[in-house]
Amino acid sequence: MPGAVTAVGRFAPTTSGRAHPGTLLSALLVWWDIRSRGGRALLRWEDIDPSALSVAVQKALAEDLTWLGLDWDQTIWQSRLASQHEQALESLAIQGRLYECDCSRTTIRQAGLPSAAGGWVYPGTCRHRTVRNWRQSRKSLRCNLEGFEFALIDESGTDLSQNVAHVMGDPLVRRADGSVTYQLAVVADDAASGVTRVVRGRDLATSTATQMALYQLLKAQPPQWRHHFLLREPQGDKLAKLHQSVGADQLQRVYQAPQLVRILSQVAGLTPGPRPELGRPVCFAPAAVEPCDFQTMVKEFDWRLVTLQDQTLVWDGQQLSWTL
Ligand code: GLU
Repeated sequence: MPGAVTAVGRFAPTTSGRAHPGTLLSALLVWWDIRSRGGRALLRWEDIDPSALSVAVQKALAEDLTWLGLDWDQTIWQSRLASQHEQALESLAIQGRLYECDCSRTTIRQAGLPSAAGGWVYPGTCRHRTVRNWRQSRKSLRCNLEGFEFALIDESGTDLSQNVAHVMGDPLVRRADGSVTYQLAVVADDAASGVTRVVRGRDLATSTATQMALYQLLKAQPPQWRHHFLLREPQGDKLAKLHQSVGADQLQRVYQAPQLVRILSQVAGLTPGPRPELGRPVCFAPAAVEPCDFQTMVKEFDWRLVTLQDQTLVWDGQQLSWTL
């Protein structure tokens, strides 16, 4: 269609550990979403957090994604985009929104304002310490988001409405060690890449209003948002390497990539198959899982089929099972 804007989507994993089933699910959903619209798919390594700087870990994560087989139009390393992040900080400083803060976690906790994302809301104690010459500052920097309030429902029906400063608090945008934070970098980089669709796990939904506020301050066009269901461990935690769940390296020993695509798409509701019932899990025995080609699935990809409920996967050392 002449003049139609090409959709741009991205998968933006933090390089803090190997992929787990939730990482692979998210990558597939991003890829299906954007390819089904004929759009551009970007892979952006979020490798700026000092705790995510290990090159070896990033390489292992890259291998996990390559194993799955997804292709990307462009690969971006966030750690190489420092000037983009500095421009964003400068713009916030010009608008009088940046301020220095050295409140400790204990001080913030003592203010006693629970945050929607867990932890505690920063109460705005240092707002009067505005800095214009932020490059000279050796303190942590926050962005004053007082007054930003959004009424917003994303494509999945997730309510993202929020008074940002009250529910999440002014975000840290640069740490005292000079590194920029996720909230700032994700907005600066998505805006610079012209990302039009952000598909990501529901655990990030509470951050969206903060990011909308930053889009507004940086005078950039926000994307369409869609937050998808999470894979959880039986205890109800999000499936994550941190929680000792299974890593892609273990999965690769028992399943072929197209088999894992089948498992994830079945759990998502995109391919038919048995569903778990109370006391009757669905066991994915490696010898019995039919392979599934993610490329052909793109033709029929339909978000209306994708479950909105979080799902539970269990790894017993031999195979995955899907339980209620
Ligand atoms: N880097 C974030 C993560 O791995 C995701 C960023 C985003 O999708 O906004 O959880």
